[in-house]
Amino acid sequence: MVSRVIPVEDFDLVIFGGTGDLARRKILPGLFRRFLSGQMPSTSRVIGAARSDLDSDGYRAMIREAIDEFGGDEKSETAKLDAFLAQLDYVPIDAMGTGGWSDLSKLMRDGVVKAFYFSVAPSLFGPLAERLHDHGIAGPDSRIVVEKPFGRDLASAHELNATLAEHFDERQIYRIDHYLGKETVQNLMAVRFGNVLFEPLWNNHYVDHIQITVAETVGVGGRGAYYDRSGAMRDMVQNHLMQLLCLIAMEPPSEFEADAVRDEKLKVIRALQPVEPHHIVRGQYQAGPETASYREDAENERSFTESFIAMRTEIANWRWAGVPFYMRTGKRLRARTSEITVVFKDLGHSIFKDDGVAHHNILSIRLQPNEGIDLQMTIKEPGPGGMRLVDVPLDLTFAEALGDTVEDVADAYERLIMDVIRGNQTLFMRGDEVEAAWAWTDPLIEGWTARNDVPKTYETGSAGPEDALMLMHRDGRRWRDIKA
Ligand code: NAD
Repeated sequence: MVSRVIPVEDFDLVIFGGTGDLARRKILPGLFRRFLSGQMPSTSRVIGAARSDLDSDGYRAMIREAIDEFGGDEKSETAKLDAFLAQLDYVPIDAMGTGGWSDLSKLMRDGVVKAFYFSVAPSLFGPLAERLHDHGIAGPDSRIVVEKPFGRDLASAHELNATLAEHFDERQIYRIDHYLGKETVQNLMAVRFGNVLFEPLWNNHYVDHIQITVAETVGVGGRGAYYDRSGAMRDMVQNHLMQLLCLIAMEPPSEFEADAVRDEKLKVIRALQPVEPHHIVRGQYQAGPETASYREDAENERSFTESFIAMRTEIANWRWAGVPFYMRTGKRLRARTSEITVVFKDLGHSIFKDDGVAHHNILSIRLQPNEGIDLQMTIKEPGPGGMRLVDVPLDLTFAEALGDTVEDVADAYERLIMDVIRGNQTLFMRGDEVEAAWAWTDPLIEGWTARNDVPKTYETGSAGPEDALMLMHRDGRRWRDIKA
């Protein structure tokens, strides 16, 4: 099968924070891959804007190095890299200052898509929005992309939304959650809503429970001070895990269109039940043989911030009443893996002689590593020896069958940036969704703060605190193994 890459419209993309870690590690290498695939028009411009005193040549040299350091196979395309870099410009701008704005204004062209990526601290979103507006650089058709964290609670998220709304309509605002840009997340929607097989089973009659795990092996070293004010709940659950939960649990939207999808996600968040204190387990990693403890990394010996959290919640609607949703995420765990697992109920009665093994159908959606979706089926073990049952995964990714289309699979960031240029908001969070997510999260954080809850410690390289395992054992269930 031949890849079908459709070039996007001509665009000017300004990256505020264009010299930062995110721009160098993800955004620019991603754009280069889109360039190589033929998706980025040769006339489009990418303009870095940040405080560093650079000229365009200096910026191109910086991005050449960044692609060399962080890029993948595309690094070898050195001749094409020159052509890509030629499409880059740079303007020194302080988001809080007055200089540089007229230079930026002169660089922007009329009649092309204008997008502004705010890859800077959220405290700068307001000043940037205001200056873009005041200098007439952004108009009613321009788009802005904002990064997480989008607030640290409902009040601050509401304030950020209000600040952006002073100068931009909701249809111009793209709140990024790169988990939604993953190929597998979109395949999940195709599998759910493109087949007749799953939807009839997708409810409390057939689903026993759902697990969402996002495990990391890294610690918080390097950004410990920042992380210590945030914790796993704010950093991961309120955005990434809740977004995944929404996609798994939402009703079928009437069409695959931005507001139709986001309306359904919002309903899920609003139906999420408060979590009982005994259904939340928070943890902090201990020192490993060669790694520091959480408190050392956070440089806070009295920190009560969680580097791990596990919880059990439910969704109060007809489809999901009584089905537990277990979520967990943490740092310094056994392996780096992100997975959503739908565990179907046991057969009411088995006609096969009991082989002592519980057979379940399990749909697992792996976001990393080895993105893919598989369905565990019970079949007869091939060959002689009577009727022996065995569980085997049925691969729903069909990577081999689709040949080169999957080789060209875009990374989450590059896919989302192309969606911004196309004007497609389906995979971006709407303001009311973000606020609803905080409205669910805030009371949980306030609850454990008021209780002076002390996180349990867990060993580096483990699956988290013992209590997190007990959270499921108590219900007669178990977490999936955390393995690479
Ligand atoms: P960074 O500190 O590496 O870079 C910040 C960038 O902002 C630099 O280019 C700097 O020059 C610019 N900047 C700072 N103050 C400025 C000002 N007053 N005017 C103009 N430019 C200014 O940060 P980062 O890691 O690239 O993160 C950027 C944003 O993206 C942050 O909001 C962060 O939370 C978010 N984010 C980052 C990552 C990541 O992997 N790095 C992941 C998710 C979200």
